[in-house]
Amino acid sequence: MPLIDTRIIRLSRLYAPTLREDPVDAELASHRLLLRAAMIRKVASGVYSFLPLGMRALRKLEQIVREEQDAIGAQEMLMSIIQPAELWYESGRWEVYGPELMHFKDRHEHSFALSPTQEELITVLVRDELRSYRELPQSLYHIQWKYRDEIRPRFGLLRAREFLMKDAYSFHASHASLQQHYDDQARSYGRICERLGLTWRAVEADSGQIGGKVTREFMALAPAGEARILYCSCGFAANAEAASARIVPQPYDPDGVLETGCGTIPAARRLSTPDVGTIAALARFLQIEERATVKALAGRAADGQPSVVFLPGSHELAVLKLPDDLAEFEPLDDEGLARVGLIKGFIGPVGLPKELRIYADRSLEALPFWLVGANEPNYHLAYATPGRDFTIERWIDVAAPQTGDLCPLCSQPLEGQRGIEVGQVFQLGTKYSESLAATYMDEDGNEQPFIMGSYGWGVSRSLAAIVEQHHDDAGIIWPLSVAPAEVAVLMLAVHDDLVQPAAEQLAKQLAERGIEVVLDDRDVRAGVKFNDADLIGWPYQVLVGRRGLEAGQIELKERASGIRTAIDQTTAVDTLTKRVREERRRYLLQPLD
Ligand code: ATP
Ligand code: MG
Repeated sequence: MPLIDTRIIRLSRLYAPTLREDPVDAELASHRLLLRAAMIRKVASGVYSFLPLGMRALRKLEQIVREEQDAIGAQEMLMSIIQPAELWYESGRWEVYGPELMHFKDRHEHSFALSPTQEELITVLVRDELRSYRELPQSLYHIQWKYRDEIRPRFGLLRAREFLMKDAYSFHASHASLQQHYDDQARSYGRICERLGLTWRAVEADSGQIGGKVTREFMALAPAGEARILYCSCGFAANAEAASARIVPQPYDPDGVLETGCGTIPAARRLSTPDVGTIAALARFLQIEERATVKALAGRAADGQPSVVFLPGSHELAVLKLPDDLAEFEPLDDEGLARVGLIKGFIGPVGLPKELRIYADRSLEALPFWLVGANEPNYHLAYATPGRDFTIERWIDVAAPQTGDLCPLCSQPLEGQRGIEVGQVFQLGTKYSESLAATYMDEDGNEQPFIMGSYGWGVSRSLAAIVEQHHDDAGIIWPLSVAPAEVAVLMLAVHDDLVQPAAEQLAKQLAERGIEVVLDDRDVRAGVKFNDADLIGWPYQVLVGRRGLEAGQIELKERASGIRTAIDQTTAVDTLTKRVREERRRYLLQPLD
């Protein structure tokens, strides 16, 4: 007999220092509860250690991701975290990642990056050895730590500087082959979401620093999520950062010329608007909606050129959508505005200084006349008419769509929700194979760059996303698939000659049936055991106490519903095993053929 039955986790021996009090700097439920339930501990801002309980949950989650990647033919490997800086110079991404890239020098002054993602390393890995179209396609993945010096690490595991990611990379000889694997990856991500018990949505997205054009994000829906999602009953769903929607600005028409249909637009009219220097103040002053105004954003792009961008007053600028000539657009401060002859709060398109470049959001193209600043203090202009009173140099799609804007597919008003991005799939095309000269020989003997895809899944982030979706005031409510153990047997009186052996026996029999069991055999009050069990979030809790045993019963508490039922001691093992197996099936899904 081994000294400790390794199949049963004994809480009396487990390193699981749960916390009674909420940690002060943890705003979100997942952050707070993962700390309190002794799953993780902070090392530094955005850097965490996993304690035994957190590690068990993380391993189970990782295993689900692994199974679903293996099922679509991706092959597991393991690449180094340390990457020679030259690779990043070669791909041009050392600059693009900028300060987010963590790096160091060795004793010989050679620079290395700590991997934030792995496109460079894998492309170079295959470029000399994957030679023929006959060997394609290939899809390789690993589950490895990633490093990003995020500007604002926060929310615990959700936005960390060190985090666990599953990243897969695929190589193809045709776009059709890429499309097929991309679809398989997307399907695999959907299955992972289901098996993790997540409520989720796949959305159209922006490709950010990874590159490529076709990309989709997988969002765990949660009010605390950082991503804004816009969706429609027709099936359209997009990250608001990248979405194009139909924005319908309203004309400000005090004379009612549109209603009477007389067709003649009055001359631009100065309105006295004393101290009305913001869109909100203007809308209040004229008692109109913000979307009946036009706002001006003056700034300077990377090339130093001052520009003004006009947007519907109700909408914000979507930075990700800015065209290249407005890259790194920085708003001008008061002094900067004055220097180019602009008056803060009263900027408009009529009579702008010549040296300014003038852009406007496409949605304004349909607006017959605009309510804008008059370029003089305390005045606005109504009926400023494009073509007649001013010209726009370029129409661009830069407004960030909102709830209520119209679906680009079916023109119904869009609805909004928030999400946590747990995964993203990209069609990279030849971006990396070209910059890193990675080619294969095609059927006709010609060198061709690989057509590539990449597929990231946030392993540690999705653990926190699960908690964000599954918790209550008492603690975490783990879905069975990732719970650190499936059943907790609470020995309610450790020194009781009835309770102690009955609890031991039950735990042992459950373990023998292949159930993951934790036995709370700590010499503490029953109340402490109840609280910890709910805080840690064991899906099934079995309460073994003297009074029940005397009546031949034990009590089963289901964490999710809180429902307690008395079950016969003699049939307890069978009943529990059956329940757990049923619940497991819910998360297993049918295997892919
Ligand atoms: P975000 O927009 O949230 O910063 P990203 O789009 O930069 O994420 P990707 O490059 O697509 O992230 O990385 C793949 C996955 O890695 C993401 O979908 C996410 O689940 C996870 N991830 C990215 N950044 C972090 C982070 N700072 N902390 C934890 N997980 C992260
Ligand atoms: Mg992403």
